[in-house]
Amino acid sequence: MGENAVRATFEALFALTDLRQILRETKPTHDLGTEQKKKVREILEKVKRSLDVIERDLNNCQEELSKLGKIVNGIEVREREELFINIHPIQPGGRLTPEAMKALIAYGDGYSTCDWCRKPFRLDKIKRPPIEEFHAELAEFLGMDQARVVPGARRGFQAVVSSLVERGDPVIVSSLAHYTEFLAVEDAGGIVKEVPLNEKNVITADAVARKIEEVKKETGRLPRLIMIDHFDYMLGNEHDVRGIAKVGREYGIPFLYNGAYTIGIMPVNGKEIGADFLVGSGHKSFASPAPSGIVATSNEWAEKIFRTTQMVGDVTRRKFGIKEVEMLGCTLMGANLIGMMASFPAVKERVKHWDEELKKANWLVNEFLKIEGNKVLSEMPRKHTLTKVDTTESFDKVARTHKRRGFFLSDELSARKIVGEFAGATRSWKLNTYGLTWKQVAYLAQAFKDIARKYGIKVLE
Ligand SMILES: *Cc1c(COP(=O)(O)O)cnc(C)c1O
Repeated sequence: MGENAVRATFEALFALTDLRQILRETKPTHDLGTEQKKKVREILEKVKRSLDVIERDLNNCQEELSKLGKIVNGIEVREREELFINIHPIQPGGRLTPEAMKALIAYGDGYSTCDWCRKPFRLDKIKRPPIEEFHAELAEFLGMDQARVVPGARRGFQAVVSSLVERGDPVIVSSLAHYTEFLAVEDAGGIVKEVPLNEKNVITADAVARKIEEVKKETGRLPRLIMIDHFDYMLGNEHDVRGIAKVGREYGIPFLYNGAYTIGIMPVNGKEIGADFLVGSGHKSFASPAPSGIVATSNEWAEKIFRTTQMVGDVTRRKFGIKEVEMLGCTLMGANLIGMMASFPAVKERVKHWDEELKKANWLVNEFLKIEGNKVLSEMPRKHTLTKVDTTESFDKVARTHKRRGFFLSDELSARKIVGEFAGATRSWKLNTYGLTWKQVAYLAQAFKDIARKYGIKVLE
């Protein structure tokens, strides 16, 4: 099966979506007029034709490629997860489960999660669908007392930082910190203080302690918060979050564990790490639609981070009870939240197989290194599926004289149905093998080697 099956699948889904619209237009009796009946028949024909295409494709009938449809004006159908091996550094962990895709179909309407919202009117208290239960299970899954969903890890940083940090407060971050951590601190009026890397490009507990001392000497006060990524986005290296949490405790400085690249793909337990706050990204690592994310904490900190509104209207005397200030009342509504909830069972299962993901990543990297001149800039062996590689002495040499320059590599990869590398980059770039099967990883390794050989680069056997 191939492209025709993919396109026909979208065609059928879209045709059924048009049918759904007719069902909506003719409710509650669904008495269809002549025009509508005609339309439904056309839709059924379209679906049947699509099913036939899929069946012929399944039986390996060679057919002309059907053309790719558009949703509307210039919005093309995104079929790369169906057609290509996607090694994009930030995309694999956020690829939806089939359950999440179904959630998008069924809960796409605006405030869909509010159907059964009852007193006390807060998103995380809704019982149908089981949103309240999900929050409790999520906290348990993360080894924390309380969890909330937020629109992205960045909004999790923001909730914590804006609760703790006042104007001029120093905040400890990594030299590999994500820009959203900088912005969360800036938004609250704080000042980032970066911990330098050691010779292995890792943040150690000692380096954090030294930075705290330095900040103390320089500003006369302790940092208000330590915010460190378990695995950073630049190299995918592991940083000593347990040691850093301990340093935080010794100084009485709370520690925010940034799990954007961990929560939802590997086991993470906040209590065991010693973190005061955990932040995760739904669309990066939890097989969820964007934007979505998680912030979790202990009961002790929950009072501060999840404080409820105290504001009273001066004219109306209105108060809004248990709405949480940092969450602006309700956060992730509709399909995004239900998508996360729908993926949760699969996520709980998949974190147990992280070691297998690492085996695949390390195998791929080792094969990749058989190409003469290829280097890996991330720590070795790999403890994450995100890896930064350097091909200056291999593929970049080809790019220097190729008429397509650096794009030759993207051309060669996409001709082999591989996408996600930074198009045009042939010096240092990142790839992520998360979620690929062994067969796909082997295919990927073979493709890199084939491209190398094609351009006269030596490949070790
Ligand atoms: C991707 C990433 C973020 C941002 O996550 P969002 O959910 O998109 O806000 C933050 N920190 C790190 C380390 C990341 O890799």
